[in-house]
Amino acid sequence: MTRLYDDPSSFAEDALAGFLDANASYVWGVPGGVVRARFPRAGKVAVVVGGGSGHYPSFAGLVGTGLADGAVVGNVFTSPSSDAAYSVAMAASFGGGVLFSSGNYTGDVMNFTLAAERLRDDGIDTRLVFVTDDVASAPVHETGRRRGIAGDFVVFKIAGAAAEAGYVLDEVERAAHLANDRTRTLGVAFAGCTLPGQDHPLFSVARQKMGVGLGIHGEPGVSEDDVPRAADLARLLVDAVLRELPTDADRVAAVVNGLGSTKYEELFVLWRTVSSLLTRAGLEVVEPEVGELVTSLDMAGCSLTLVALDSELEALWRAPADAPGYKKGSVATVAAGTSRRGQDRRVAEVSGSSTAEPTPLASREAQRAARTALAALEAMAAALERAEEELGRLDAVAGDGDHGRGMTRGVHSACTAAALVVDRGGGLRSVLEAAGDAWASTAGGTSGVLWGAALRSAGEHLDDGREMHAMRVAAEDAAQDMTADRAGITARDVISALRAVISAITRLGHAEVGDKTMLDALVPFVDALESEVARGVEWIEAWCAAAAVATTAAEATAALRPRVGRARPLADRSLGTPDPGAVSLALCLAAVANVLRPSSGSGSS
Ligand code: ADP
Ligand code: MG
Repeated sequence: MTRLYDDPSSFAEDALAGFLDANASYVWGVPGGVVRARFPRAGKVAVVVGGGSGHYPSFAGLVGTGLADGAVVGNVFTSPSSDAAYSVAMAASFGGGVLFSSGNYTGDVMNFTLAAERLRDDGIDTRLVFVTDDVASAPVHETGRRRGIAGDFVVFKIAGAAAEAGYVLDEVERAAHLANDRTRTLGVAFAGCTLPGQDHPLFSVARQKMGVGLGIHGEPGVSEDDVPRAADLARLLVDAVLRELPTDADRVAAVVNGLGSTKYEELFVLWRTVSSLLTRAGLEVVEPEVGELVTSLDMAGCSLTLVALDSELEALWRAPADAPGYKKGSVATVAAGTSRRGQDRRVAEVSGSSTAEPTPLASREAQRAARTALAALEAMAAALERAEEELGRLDAVAGDGDHGRGMTRGVHSACTAAALVVDRGGGLRSVLEAAGDAWASTAGGTSGVLWGAALRSAGEHLDDGREMHAMRVAAEDAAQDMTADRAGITARDVISALRAVISAITRLGHAEVGDKTMLDALVPFVDALESEVARGVEWIEAWCAAAAVATTAAEATAALRPRVGRARPLADRSLGTPDPGAVSLALCLAAVANVLRPSSGSGSS
């Protein structure tokens, strides 16, 4: 149970504020996360880690000397946005380039990749290393699809030590990849965690049972077993991890990680046997860590991570570090540097949001379409709010339970941004672009980045009619009803915008129809709309008919097994439950249909 919170919806921000206050000598808050309180030496590679909140000391607690230079902080179990990653990296970078590292989760991968593209456009060399240590999350021939759990800490530690030692960016990246390639983890869960403000855990494990192969976002284990004695659990974990560890090493680093509510003493009992089993296997253990490094709110459980060391990794593993949530050896000699207090100008530069930019005045037609788009977004917000809990429940079956909350956060900030643009006389294009950017930067998570990119790319395929503005304003009847219910766009516009949406989602997520994602509702929707229009049906009517197709298609995803995203490791569990992203998309399309419907019969195609 997570018992202490003020407003559950701002739990992550509130925790971050307290963390920053308590650790002011270490860390400095910037938009999107935290950076070290002192400027690093010029030319140092900036190691920027990150992910959702709920994993303390990961990720913000690992910002400090010998470790990370910055941490991007998302909402609870939700990937931070690409804006946040970009902002933190800008504040952390100091001439040596940026290495982003996070667990290998679709949302994190997309957002960090987008931020890296933006940094490179700005002339900042940026690399990406996604951690894939969890042996339970994909078979050995698909290690690239595995997720990052406690091994995140290992890779961050190695990369941080390498950067502190003066490695150049290529070399920090190489060391981080090497660490990831030689690190394996398996975990078990005894009880699920509870999101702040909820009264039941994301999953539960029967008494005296444990989930083997847990995730760190409240995803249950991939199989269930009786809880054994600690010594037998140690044997199970050591066997499974050693089976996959590179065999060329006779020295290993080890981490027994607690997930949040398993006592340190229990972890030490476990470690006692792990240690002797490793020795018996002929391995020398180098400076083991037993404690909480990557947690999952109040989840009960633990994991074993082993790192097959070579001499370079061993030196980096042993290197000193000093961060709020992790200390090793003495770093007094490297902790110097000027304080950031009152000095960080660049942070202010990157924090400006796109809604602060002037909105170009659009043609009346495009302004009318913009108002319709705003009404559509508001209808989506109402529908998503009603469904928030149910969407969270669907996502908790095989994912992390954040889908409802992510979607409502995203749509509300999209509405606010869209309303601002409408007030300033912007057109449909500006409204959709602003709504997309706001959605992506607030919602976080996989669906957040995809919805953000979807709305933006729809906008980019529509016209604000700015060049026609002057002529039209003169010609248009002043008495024309500005609240006219016509959407003011053609069927061709709608279809090309929707096709652009499909390509944006595919480009970012690499999913295909049948992978059990939102595409399984979207593609049938667009196909149906297009074929209705081809039959001569006016597009608004076609939209309404196609929305019903999307609803049916979303329900039909219950029969599919997820092949991408957070739910993939628990694909079997997901059978029988529809994909949350497909369900929410169908809800949104139906809500938009309701806004458009009264105007049917007066389409402008
Ligand atoms: P997260 O999975 O990061 O927690 P959400 O729970 O908000 O994000 O969204 C989950 C939904 O995102 C899934 O139900 C699915 O519809 C969609 N999704 C996940 N991965 C992909 C992908 N690669 N391409 C398209 N949609 C995806
Ligand atoms: Mg989710």
